Amino acid sequence: MFDILFRNICVVNPDTACPVQKDVFVGVKDGKIAYIDKLEPQEGSKRVINGANTALIPGLINTHTHAAMSILRGYADDHNLQDWLHNYVFPAEAKFDESCVYTGTQLAIAEMIRTGTVSITDMYMYIPAVAKAAYETGIYANITNAALVFDREGYRMEKDNSYIQMEILRRDWHNTDNGRIKLDSGIHAEYTSFERVWQDFAGYAKQYDLNMQLHLSETKFEHDSCVSKYGKTPARVLCDAGVFDTRTTAAHCVWLTDEDMDILREKGVTVAHNPVSNLKLASGVARVSDMLSRGVNVALGTDGVCSNNSHDMFEEMKLCALLQKGTTLDPKQVNACQALSLATVSGAYAQGREGSLGLIKVGYDASMAMIDLDVPQLTPVHNPLSTIVYSASGRDVCMTMVRGKVLYENGEFTTIDMEKIKSQLYGYVMPKVFGVTK
Ligand SMILES: [Zn+2]
Repeated sequence: MFDILFRNICVVNPDTACPVQKDVFVGVKDGKIAYIDKLEPQEGSKRVINGANTALIPGLINTHTHAAMSILRGYADDHNLQDWLHNYVFPAEAKFDESCVYTGTQLAIAEMIRTGTVSITDMYMYIPAVAKAAYETGIYANITNAALVFDREGYRMEKDNSYIQMEILRRDWHNTDNGRIKLDSGIHAEYTSFERVWQDFAGYAKQYDLNMQLHLSETKFEHDSCVSKYGKTPARVLCDAGVFDTRTTAAHCVWLTDEDMDILREKGVTVAHNPVSNLKLASGVARVSDMLSRGVNVALGTDGVCSNNSHDMFEEMKLCALLQKGTTLDPKQVNACQALSLATVSGAYAQGREGSLGLIKVGYDASMAMIDLDVPQLTPVHNPLSTIVYSASGRDVCMTMVRGKVLYENGEFTTIDMEKIKSQLYGYVMPKVFGVTK
């Protein structure tokens, strides 16, 4: 007996051999995809969903975000990264407490689930609150409290708050719910710490077999300053410190050299490409086509919404494809199938979840998004893959499911109380951080 059976649905996978399967039956059982076929299964189902005029895609994977920054949505637009960070973001974030982070993360996850995202790679502070929010909402999350250390004098890892927070997460949350919640090690970036910190946090990742997260060569200023300071690029200097020795996700990578790309490919580092954030902060356009042709694993992310200002992964897919076409003058660069692959399969590898996430395939987790194609903005459908990448937005998602559990369907969340989140946001967070009430 299936828990859910989709009938006559269109399955869209980032599979170059067979990306679109029309009019199929998809059976979900015990959280897994148990059946995909044109033929109606003999087995019954507790719930049957009519898939006419809809499509199923693998749940999207956001490989770089700072979820709780949802509180800062629209707070600091039209600045460059250094100005934005030091004069707006850091002062506001200094007022955050654990409760703000919990509420902000819940709000972000609500938006993510609403727009078809099932898994996130998150970098923030007060991470036990991030883990709690992720656990309760049902999303998968790889979470780090990346090291950010400016003071070299007497630095000791054991006293570093990032390390202390990671240890709490490792003890209380790591691998909770069969690995749905994971701790990653992390450093914020080359320019916000130094070699001793890189070695310590890389060593910590190796000791407990954790993934690493970091920001890498986001701006020209950062990249060039590193070369003047160390005589090496950020990728080279961090590689030499052992930072890429466990599975690593490096966000941005806008200013990589060809040699840097070779380092990332050799070390199996995933580039989390954040096209909206990179454009909004005027950081530049990452050379994704070059990375892909060199064999680098590239995935997609939104970054925090203070530099985006949404968590809609459909925007990232479309913009990624368009930017590569526009900058290479070659319309064949990053086609629709590749764009969906970056948002799913590549993200699953980045998080260490390949084999269970990223495809709609028998034996994989039933973590999928259903898209309503019967709307004016998606009509007519010549090719569902094209419709999904180039015409759809997250608002066209009508159902999001993780491990067979429906988390969002037709306007309703099953694990999230939006009224409660809003009351906490306007009653506590906004007065605390901005001194304003609604
Ligand atoms: Zn970031």
